[in-house]
Amino acid sequence: MHTNAFSGSLFIVAAPSGAGKSTLVNALLAQEPGIKLSISTTTRPPRPGEQDGVHYQFTTAEDFVARADRGEFLEWAEVHGNYYGTSRLIVEQEMKNGTDILLEIDWQGARQVKKLFPDAAGIFILPPSIAALEERLHKRGTDEPHIITRRLLAAGGEIAHAPEFEYAIINEEFNVALSELQAIVKATRARFAQQAARNASLFAQLGIHVLQQP
Ligand code: 5GP
Repeated sequence: MHTNAFSGSLFIVAAPSGAGKSTLVNALLAQEPGIKLSISTTTRPPRPGEQDGVHYQFTTAEDFVARADRGEFLEWAEVHGNYYGTSRLIVEQEMKNGTDILLEIDWQGARQVKKLFPDAAGIFILPPSIAALEERLHKRGTDEPHIITRRLLAAGGEIAHAPEFEYAIINEEFNVALSELQAIVKATRARFAQQAARNASLFAQLGIHVLQQP
């Protein structure tokens, strides 16, 4: 069994917009203080109520591209016509310190992260039906109609990549979906390599020799 330099676990949560991903993730984070949400950088303009540094780090396309060129993003992608990226430094530092990190990113980003962190738990949130997805997008009321249409079209594209994830959660009953998400978190934390990284001295005392990953 191998271990790695990161004692924190990495969770990737993806979904088509309108699947209820953010509500689920926020409920998980409220109950699991050991998990930190990575705040992405984006070139999308803030929606009403969104705060810089809280929901996203908002920036210009010029700045984003310069930072991407400097390798500052662990992953980045163009989604719905805007750029989104995850800070490499913050994620790696936090995980070295033993903090679990959750990334709310799209399938393109998830693919890049899985290449770097094959042990990351990839979770895909599915809506219970297309009608429910459409209804949630309209009810949210934060976007213009043409943006909603674009997001609905994109939903099909995002869902096409669901099989690339290890876990699928159908968000029909909120509490059921939340408990499934919590179960995935618990199971991921209990993986041998994660336990070995978190409890190195215990494993050494017990004479369990864990191979260091190159
Ligand atoms: P929204 O604009 O609705 O907040 O997000 C749109 C999409 O961008 C969502 O699917 C969200 O998961 C994705 N996204 C947000 N942050 C990132 C990121 O840092 N990287 C990638 N690849 N996708 C992101």
